[in-house]
Amino acid sequence: MAGILFLISAPSGSGKSTLVNQLRSLVDGLDFSISYTTRAPRGSEQDGREYHFVSRDQFLAMVEGGGFLEHAEVFGNFYGTPRESLTLAAQHGRDLLLDIDVQGADQVRQSMPDAVSIFVLPPNPEVLEMRLRNRSRAEGSVADDVIERRLAKARSEIQNYRQYRYILVNNILDKAVAELTAIVKCERLKRGVPENGSAAGDSMHLADLAQRCRQGNVNGLEGVLRSFGLGAQMRLPNQQLFQPDGE
Ligand code: ADP
Ligand code: 5GP
Repeated sequence: MAGILFLISAPSGSGKSTLVNQLRSLVDGLDFSISYTTRAPRGSEQDGREYHFVSRDQFLAMVEGGGFLEHAEVFGNFYGTPRESLTLAAQHGRDLLLDIDVQGADQVRQSMPDAVSIFVLPPNPEVLEMRLRNRSRAEGSVADDVIERRLAKARSEIQNYRQYRYILVNNILDKAVAELTAIVKCERLKRGVPENGSAAGDSMHLADLAQRCRQGNVNGLEGVLRSFGLGAQMRLPNQQLFQPDGE
């Protein structure tokens, strides 16, 4: 595709959907791919808005027909990105954002290495659990086993953070929204796409904000990883660091 492909992943409950919704209200020219899923709608979700909700048979027929750019099984349900999202974004000259899990991001990176990937982290497991519980309560059901499963999965997903170009710690919402917006605008500026109404000083501020989210530059990341029991792993000697964008 001609525009920029953004991938965003996070452990469930980190606040990724909240961030993406705010981003979409703040930047123009960015399409959001609506995935297909076999899970049931949650809370106020509507078919065709958050997801296309389909049966397993319908999903598998789409897989057979080559309709997905990538697909994966997450928490016992299938999720997939329709190829059509890329076609439409390319036709309209827009950038495209995919909200996908770490397996899906891996698949997309193989075929589209220029994709700009962003990993969202909650500040610590306690906050993650609180957000998962608050969201479940707001949706009218708090199933302890579901929350436990999501917390356990968070730790294994976080281990993949090195595969991502940018890391966002979603602690204070406004700050994380500003950082995510800066990443998108800065990647556009890098490709020579001017930001409407941005002065040179704004561009420098955006670049600085985005740069601080580059993997390797993130203040306090070690503390976040340690809180998930992953601190020691960071200090393993001779560990190969993945170069997410070959720069
Ligand atoms: P995800 O899409 O990553 O599963 P959500 O966007 O649904 O997560 O957020 C989970 C819950 O956390 C929601 O109730 C949301 O309002 C809340 N939340 C998100 N970001 C923050 C934040 N920075 N501070 C406090 N609460 C947040
Ligand atoms: P949820 O059910 O909470 O909306 O999403 C569960 C997980 O599925 C999240 O990590 C989300 O990013 C991921 N997901 C949503 N759509 C897709 C998709 O099209 N492909 C893949 N691989 N994962 C997806």
